[in-house]
Amino acid sequence: MYDYLIVGSGLFGATFAHLARKQGKRCLVIDKRPHAGGNIYCQDVEGIRVHQYGAHIFHTSNRRVWDFVNSLVEFNRYTNSPVARYGKSLYNLPFNMNTFYQMWGVTTPQEAMNKIEEQRQEVLKRMQSEGIAQPRNLEEQALLLIGSDIYERLIKGYTEKQWGRKCTDLPAFIIKRLPVRFVYDNNYFNDRYQGIPIGGYNRLIEALLKGVEVRLNTDYFSHRDEFNALAKEVVFTGKIDEFYDYRFGNLEYRTVRFEHEVLDMPNYQGNAVVNYTEAEVPYTRIIEHKHFESFGEEVYQNPKTVVSKEYSTEWQSGMEPYYPVNDERNSLLYQQYKQLADQESHVIFGGRLAEYKYYDMAPIVERVMRMFEEN
Ligand code: FAD
Ligand code: UDP
Repeated sequence: MYDYLIVGSGLFGATFAHLARKQGKRCLVIDKRPHAGGNIYCQDVEGIRVHQYGAHIFHTSNRRVWDFVNSLVEFNRYTNSPVARYGKSLYNLPFNMNTFYQMWGVTTPQEAMNKIEEQRQEVLKRMQSEGIAQPRNLEEQALLLIGSDIYERLIKGYTEKQWGRKCTDLPAFIIKRLPVRFVYDNNYFNDRYQGIPIGGYNRLIEALLKGVEVRLNTDYFSHRDEFNALAKEVVFTGKIDEFYDYRFGNLEYRTVRFEHEVLDMPNYQGNAVVNYTEAEVPYTRIIEHKHFESFGEEVYQNPKTVVSKEYSTEWQSGMEPYYPVNDERNSLLYQQYKQLADQESHVIFGGRLAEYKYYDMAPIVERVMRMFEEN
């Protein structure tokens, strides 16, 4: 008999198991996949840790979360600085003085601001003439934020590939989180702390699950009643619509198809992340995994490299669900499921799939830490 049956060994389930065990609770973790870790799992290929379900960079400004994860495994100094490629041109991201220099040849913040302002005015005039006060979609928001040159080269193609929808049909908020800076700073995140666990994410998961019983290749729904009978409470981190047998309908997701390739060269693109922002290139970006964990000359210690091309696609049953589609239909549908979930007295719903929410890793850890502080 267990205190908790934890369905899912991703970051939510593993952090929950860790903190519950510390309080002396008995936990059983089950996962339908053949490995623990959910989407942060990495596979060793040619001595390189490959982020099997998409590149993951841990970042946070929360000191307690940072200290907690570092108490389990030390993090390295990786700083995310993606490069955008459009045709033969390369631009630094996020949008900063390096990008503005590469785009327009401007060298001072004032020159860059003037250039953007010039382009913004055109959009503002158009919106005013149509009597529009607030940007109605991502295109208008992006044009107001950064002007037409950057929108056309670095945003439009990438975003339409990523979301499979026109920028004029996407909500404005998606683009608001991209920083715009008038300093020479290619650090993608504004957070105080970031990095990759030294030795990879599997180390973090192993440390979280140390001393916890884990059963892999085990689907909760295959023997639901038997599993429920094993524990006082269930912590469910799978899909909430599946938990309720899709009775109100399917929640939708975007997913990513990865093409992983081993290359017989030590250094393919010189950076972990290169975004391909043209509509004509079918993939959104190429990840070169060794750059997450080796720096400078270390890159050449391994004569091979592993790259992954990412193709963004609409999710269908049987595929991995990645990004919740937070449009009106799905948000209303989720609320229906949530009402049922709120009435459960022996089930805790948590994580990306059970809360139908795009969570980064640090907020997941923070959420679970809070749950244990409150009790
Ligand atoms: P998951 O990792 O999905 O774990 C859920 C687990 O439950 C899975 O292992 C699954 O197999 C299991 N499960 C589901 N149903 C059942 C069932 N019926 N029976 C048994 N087991 C079941 N965050 C960042 O902070 N930085 C990043 O750079 C970043 N990049 C990302 C890139 C991509 C492509 C994606 C998709 C996400 C990214 N994230 C990133 C977010 C990060 O992956 C999540 O915050 C985190 O993995 C969520 O953990 P989770 O436990 O909620 O879900
Ligand atoms: N984006 C873009 N060009 C880029 C990178 C990002 O237009 O080169 C846009 C795109 O719409 C994306 C959003 O910015 O959905 C947020 O980007 P981020 O990298 O934060 O998205 P994630 O892949 O982490 O969801």
